[in-house]
Amino acid sequence: MTISNTKLTLPTSIDDVHVLNFIDGQWVPPSTGAYLKNVSPLTGKSISPLPDSDSADVDMAVSAAKGAFPKWSTTSVDERAGILLKISELIKENIPLLSEFESIDQGKPVRLAMMHEIPSCAYLFAQFAEIITRGIAETSQTMPFIHTPASIMKPEPCKVEFTTQHVPAGVAAIITPWNVPLQMVCIKLAPCLAAGNTCVIKPTELSSINAYLLTHILKAAGVPDGVVNVVFGSGPRAGEPLVKHRDVRLVSFTGGTKTGFRIGSLAGGMGKRVGLELGGKNPNLVFDDCDIDHAVATGIRSAFHNQGEICLCASRHYVQRGIYDKYVEMFREGVQAQLKVGDPKAPDTYFSAVVSQNHMDKITRYIRLAQEEGATVEFLVKRDDPKIKHISSDGRLTIEGFEGGFFVAPTLITNISHKSRVMQEEIFGPVVCVLPFDDEDEGVALANDTEYGLGASVWSLDKEKLDRVMGRINAGTVWGNAWFALSFSMPFGGMKNSGNVREFGNWGIEFFTETKTLSKHVYAQQPGSS
Ligand code: NAD
Repeated sequence: MTISNTKLTLPTSIDDVHVLNFIDGQWVPPSTGAYLKNVSPLTGKSISPLPDSDSADVDMAVSAAKGAFPKWSTTSVDERAGILLKISELIKENIPLLSEFESIDQGKPVRLAMMHEIPSCAYLFAQFAEIITRGIAETSQTMPFIHTPASIMKPEPCKVEFTTQHVPAGVAAIITPWNVPLQMVCIKLAPCLAAGNTCVIKPTELSSINAYLLTHILKAAGVPDGVVNVVFGSGPRAGEPLVKHRDVRLVSFTGGTKTGFRIGSLAGGMGKRVGLELGGKNPNLVFDDCDIDHAVATGIRSAFHNQGEICLCASRHYVQRGIYDKYVEMFREGVQAQLKVGDPKAPDTYFSAVVSQNHMDKITRYIRLAQEEGATVEFLVKRDDPKIKHISSDGRLTIEGFEGGFFVAPTLITNISHKSRVMQEEIFGPVVCVLPFDDEDEGVALANDTEYGLGASVWSLDKEKLDRVMGRINAGTVWGNAWFALSFSMPFGGMKNSGNVREFGNWGIEFFTETKTLSKHVYAQQPGSS
């Protein structure tokens, strides 16, 4: 097969990025002519506005995807895999640039994007190329049956051979959030394309610069026109018409629980398949027989990785009473000593801006609520850090050189009620609550007492107890003496209000296929043969 030789030229400065919709292989302005203001969370300064698309743009995009489906769905596995590998290569070649843009657009430190998030996007396309080359696991069996050879009154024993086949499902809608924006798109797009579907992507309205750059990568990699379409804009104006479009067969969504439930009811009401990856309020259950150094160091990461803007961040730490005071003290000291806040380009920065002014306001509302409820609220930054110019009473930071940015201090809350909204609702920011518990039953009950069930960690060196407690936690992913240890080959998703689907690997690709059962009569002797 031949792989496209279209040269990939990406803008090297964010000021040269001008985001347009990508429909049927062309970059086009929104039919409304309107754009959404877009700012960098690091500085509050404007970057490329995003098309404020509406149903007219969605109609064009779905029509392009529908038109491209017959050819793409029958394109050979070799050819599809070759294109996926090319996408992977092009992402890999551009990791530094994509990481820098992700930081400017989303607020995270460049190092964080570069270490895992952007490389994982390249990995995902290569992984799904490998999965389709190997073949999606099919089932087959041959069973005795009764058939009617000549007379319906005299059925005879025979055999029937059953096989399953995974076939492309049709036009998919992909709707994604802002926290790891490129990775969220790639987690869905790679299996979608691999399975032979076409799609329309509606990325987040908050950090979509890399979704736009991805369109150039797809074109250069030889993805045929119309196979992938990207429509930028708001949820209600662009996302909702996409979900409701009659030519969209399945909807793959990651985002908040409230939005997911609305999308689920709209799409489900039209008989579409809907995969929902939703919010979390993840517990970290620490027993007094754990390796406390390991538990604290990982606990800090679990609370503040990506400014706490990871659906799997652990925002509720329950620590057994025997080591509670020590854990809190080590946690406080560990953050202040190690977690450098500020300049996203500095290689030793671990913690930078949250995604938007609105999100900062939401986080600080929860901090004020905790203060009003009489909890102990501590902002864990070094008071003598010369780069930190000001800390407001609700945790907002003013950082030298980034005065207009949206920075919130890593915040530790203790002495709070387990029933507080701060403990029960998803904040999705750098706020962690630490509470004591007495025994296993109480710890498990507290950990499970939530509407969510996405991820959880358990810490103990007692192997039996570890296995037992991990089994008692209601969450899609449970770690033992670890956090965020994920494999793209293992199923990922949430229980309860955290979702209804599993992504990654075989689970990811099955969502994007229809499974057919083929049932064939096996003649003992072929009729007509002697
Ligand atoms: P959100 O629900 O506000 O938005 C997600 C996407 O849905 C955006 O693209 C948005 O424009 C779109 N949208 C909003 N309303 C819509 C509607 N009515 N119809 C169609 N589309 C609509 O979520 P967010 O604030 O972007 O992301 C944060 C949330 O995402 C958190 O709750 C976080 O836990 C969750 N998240 C979950 C996972 C996971 O794997 N479970 C991963 C990352 C983020």
